Amino acid sequence: LFEGLAEKLQATFDKLKGKGKLTESDVKEAMREVKLALLEADVNFKVVKDFINKVKERAIGGEVLESLTPGQQVIKIVNEEMTLLMGSSESKVTFSSTLPTVYMMVGLQGSGKTTSCGKLANMMKKQQKKPLLIAADIYRPAAIEQLKTVGEKIDVPVFSMGNQIDPVNIAKAGIEEAKKNGNDLVIIDTAGRLHIDNVLMEELQNIKNEVKPQEVLLVVDSMTGQDAVNVAESFSNQVGIDGVILTKLDGDTRGGAALSVRAVTNKPIKFVGMGEKIEEFETFHPDRMASRILGMGDVLTLIEKAQTTMDMKKAQELEKKMRTQQFSFDDFLDQLQQMKNMGSMKEILEMIPGVGGKQLKNLDVDEKELVYIEAIIQSMTKGERSNPSIINGSRRKRIAFGSGTSIQQVNKLLKQFEQTRKMMKQFTDMEKGAKKGNRFK
Ligand code: GDP
Ligand code: MG
Repeated sequence: LFEGLAEKLQATFDKLKGKGKLTESDVKEAMREVKLALLEADVNFKVVKDFINKVKERAIGGEVLESLTPGQQVIKIVNEEMTLLMGSSESKVTFSSTLPTVYMMVGLQGSGKTTSCGKLANMMKKQQKKPLLIAADIYRPAAIEQLKTVGEKIDVPVFSMGNQIDPVNIAKAGIEEAKKNGNDLVIIDTAGRLHIDNVLMEELQNIKNEVKPQEVLLVVDSMTGQDAVNVAESFSNQVGIDGVILTKLDGDTRGGAALSVRAVTNKPIKFVGMGEKIEEFETFHPDRMASRILGMGDVLTLIEKAQTTMDMKKAQELEKKMRTQQFSFDDFLDQLQQMKNMGSMKEILEMIPGVGGKQLKNLDVDEKELVYIEAIIQSMTKGERSNPSIINGSRRKRIAFGSGTSIQQVNKLLKQFEQTRKMMKQFTDMEKGAKKGNRFK
């Protein structure tokens, strides 16, 4: 999905993440790269410009989140703005109070209207609706047959009157049929053209005026890039639409349509087609789509987790201790407990992008080992916990005995503790640098 775009954005973000601190020019350079990546992905020029300005304003304005590195903050902002661009939250189709609810599909020829009629009917059927499909495309050869085939596959009735009757009358007759048969939902399949054309627009307006559909859903082929946006704009202005169905997102699409349609038409994307099969149809979630594009869905979950479980005051105390080299085994124990609150170590590590399977294999995180570690620390005296350098051979023996572990296990922990101390010192140095780098208003 949007591979080219995702790859470029991720490369840009990797550079940011590698830096302990960011300068204003780092952010500007990153935004220049994001801008190029979006333009190459066929995102509408004006949309890109607005988007970049918003992100820059927030990033350079210095939205500081103490627990994050500046690089992560920029990524978080991009993710949030990208979600907003695509509509912020899921936009559901609505149902009318008087039955049947009528949906009308519109769009250019080949965009995927007939296919989407079937997909949507299938989805609605699963939500306990009783749909009826109406074949109102009287121009495309075999269009009626195509809809009937789809209907048979999903066991949904199809209403048709051949290709000699006006589509407005077909639609009206179909709705009467639905009322008679107790169908609570009607989906009208209409004709398309290869290009926007006034005759088509007029026909669609006529149908719309006569049947007053609850939702006019515009079907747009995401592979057509910039054109998709122009098409959406024309239909939106001339026929009036309530939502968009973006098809062929499974293909080699560059992503421009998904990222611009909402901004240009101000109409939500409601569903996406992810393949030719009936089931390959999803409700559109802007947040998940943004995460998919950025290849970073779980980072946000991780950040949220860290924010909700990390005790800020404790974190600050800890930082002070680390700076003054007073970090002790008591703090270590505290850290372990906080880590446990966040979930398993492995689970946490897996959420970090760039931490591959290989690194995880090398990292031997045994949950049971944590129990031993706690026991060992609890067997230490107060003095030993705050000043581990006094733990000599005989003390090690005593601690191992007291905790029911072995001297090897005690040695291992002492070594790990020393490493952790070193690592924390590096982190605090980095953080200090990062905070300085953030004050670049
Ligand atoms: P219509 O002219 O607007 O009714 O378009 P159709 O429903 O006939 O679809 C045109 C072509 O696009 C068909 O070959 C469909 O199988 C294909 N198609 C529709 N939606 C999707 C989709 O989401 N993914 C892929 N890969 N193909 C699709
Ligand atoms: Mg069709």
